[in-house]
Formats: sequence, C-alpha cells, structure tokens
Amino acid sequence: MSGVNVAIEIDIAKCDGYASCILLAPEVFDFDETRNIAVVKASLPEQLDLTEIDEAIRNCPRRAITRV
Ligand code: SF4
Repeated sequence: MSGVNVAIEIDIAKCDGYASCILLAPEVFDFDETRNIAVVKASLPEQLDLTEIDEAIRNCPRRAITRV
C-alpha cells in the first residue's frame, strides 16, 4: 500500500480525457479542463495505494499511464 519513490506519468498525446483513471484513483489523477486530459496531481499523498493506481493503469483505454 505504501508508494515510496513511485513515479506516475500520463502520455498526454494518447490521453482521450475519458477520466476512468480519476474515478479509480482520485487521490492521484485530476482533470485538466483546459486541455481535456487527465493529469497527475502535483501533490500526492505519502501513502499511495498502488492497487488503485495499477487498476487505473489497467483500465486506461489508451494505455496512456505508466508507473516506475
Ligand atoms: S484513463 Fe487514460 S485515457 Fe482516460 S483520462 Fe485517464 S489517462 Fe487519459
């Protein structure tokens, strides 16, 4: 459950803004209304729920999310 040293990225060229990632991991992803895409929040909680994040990655229809 802890998310130390986790980097999450969204390929904005792929993102279609459907926002399922935001529904699945609202503490991590936000919606950029100007560009109509999802973004990774600038400030993330210290305890990241990696299960939630991986669920968002799996369910991204554009395969736009990666984490390392
Ligand atoms: S689920 Fe994927 S395509 Fe949809 S908004 Fe999130 S990053 Fe973009």
